[in-house]
Amino acid sequence: MRFDKYNFSPALKRNLENLGFKKPTDIQYRTIPPIVNGEDVLAIAQTGTGKTAAYAIPVIHLLSLRREEMESYGVRCIVMVPTHELAIQVTEVFEKLVAGMGINVLGMHGGVDQAPQIKRLKNGMDILVATPGRMFDLASQGFLSFKSVDILILDEADHMLELGFITDMQQLIRRIPKGRQTLFFSATINEHIKDLAYGLVRHAVRIQISPKDPVSKNIDHSVAFIEMDDKRFFLERMIKEHPESKMLVFVRTKVRAERVAKALERVGISSQTIHGDKVQDERTDVMANFKCGTNKILIATDISSRGIDIPNVEYVVNYDLPEVAENYVHRVGRTGRGTQRGIAISFCSKEEHEILDEIESFLTKPIDVIAIDKAEYEETIDISEDSEHDWKSLIKEHEAKMAMPIKKKKKKKK
Ligand code: ADP
Ligand code: MG
Repeated sequence: MRFDKYNFSPALKRNLENLGFKKPTDIQYRTIPPIVNGEDVLAIAQTGTGKTAAYAIPVIHLLSLRREEMESYGVRCIVMVPTHELAIQVTEVFEKLVAGMGINVLGMHGGVDQAPQIKRLKNGMDILVATPGRMFDLASQGFLSFKSVDILILDEADHMLELGFITDMQQLIRRIPKGRQTLFFSATINEHIKDLAYGLVRHAVRIQISPKDPVSKNIDHSVAFIEMDDKRFFLERMIKEHPESKMLVFVRTKVRAERVAKALERVGISSQTIHGDKVQDERTDVMANFKCGTNKILIATDISSRGIDIPNVEYVVNYDLPEVAENYVHRVGRTGRGTQRGIAISFCSKEEHEILDEIESFLTKPIDVIAIDKAEYEETIDISEDSEHDWKSLIKEHEAKMAMPIKKKKKKKK
């Protein structure tokens, strides 16, 4: 069914058309009716299948029907997300969908001045997209009231119900009215989190699409066995072989992100990094550069593994394997979005075999292996333009030369 057949206002239909959304994706088709009916929903669908609009469209429709007087600092719908970048992105989707409808949207996250956020909350807000930190901060200062909330959405729901966030979420749920509608969306969920989610709502409708394989079918993903110290040469080769491609490279730590960027710089490849140690302005700039393609290589920690929707990311490289198995699904899910296809490659060193096993058991099947023969492996190291590597190879050459006379001597003795 096309969107123009839905019982939406002309303005919402026009906004969908302007976004190029002609018909709902599978998950949208399934979630729109129960959400419009006011039901609680737990929706699981693979990465890149349009989950944002799967909650945004029906919620906007509902809010457009229920015109109410807004209390000062009150909010009607809260969308909780785990990262600043995701707050910005989801806010943008809502803004495009509510254009000209008289519904207001505010994206809220820390790391930026709170005054403009407070000013916008003064007359009440229809939709608040927020990370928990700043939201609770403003609430405790009296600039945000949860009394009028009638829809609560947890995007990346399993993550929002994990250790780092669960207390905040429980606190939030205690503070908003009982009659609220609650929506959970994610690409991954486990039994424990599912129980937790069900414990927070009354009769959630469960909608799950492609439950067997959590990795999107649009993604070709494989693993290559590469030793820790050699990873940079393989990344260098990949980038040089695909100079036009947008690549998202995941590393384990903030320090490693900077190190990989430095190693790339030494071989003439420019890249940018994103992680929790960067100031917000820089994080926002880096995301914008990657989005528009001014920078093609983005090196990120798991801060960017969830939810980020950047068009035309052709490759995801797991330079280090993710420590949390489900993050594999989220990381590789930054490519192959919508109808696009994508390629994901993981570099697995000796030390990481155990993590690989965990990931494979999470996926319930093995990941295809890219076989690299010895000659190709060595060639990759040899063609590197890394001067540090050249310096090493000079020593190697020197050692080889020094060793030669000894060999010769041995031969003479025979
Ligand atoms: P998910 O949250 O499932 O990972 P997103 O909501 O980020 O996915 O959407 C992935 C991409 O699909 C986005 O670029 C979005 O614009 C696009 N998209 C969503 N719904 C539709 C639709 N109905 N038709 C066409 N493209 C869509
Ligand atoms: Mg999403």
